Amino acid sequence: MNGFACVACAQVDFPRRLLCPSCGCDEFIEVEACKGRVEDVTALHHRAGKAGEDIAYIATVLTQAGPRVIARLERLLAPGTVVSLRVESDGAIVGSSD
Ligand SMILES: [Zn+2]
Repeated sequence: MNGFACVACAQVDFPRRLLCPSCGCDEFIEVEACKGRVEDVTALHHRAGKAGEDIAYIATVLTQAGPRVIARLERLLAPGTVVSLRVESDGAIVGSSD
């Protein structure tokens, strides 16, 4: 996945914004943000009464380019784990450890 760096002040955001929240510039270049570090993980239980099944792990990931993103993890990972990030066809960000 890619982040978007402001050409004027270099702040990186994801997703892309209309205007840079830092300086108001409207020009961006794409920068690689395909790796990040897990900060927090939340387990979402989809169905009451079916503990242990269909659990989704949602993480806050600090990308190496700067922005934090919310990503679904393929399995439970500890905070501090470095993950590779990709964007699925439905727009969801998925993190997986190498
Ligand atoms: Zn800017």
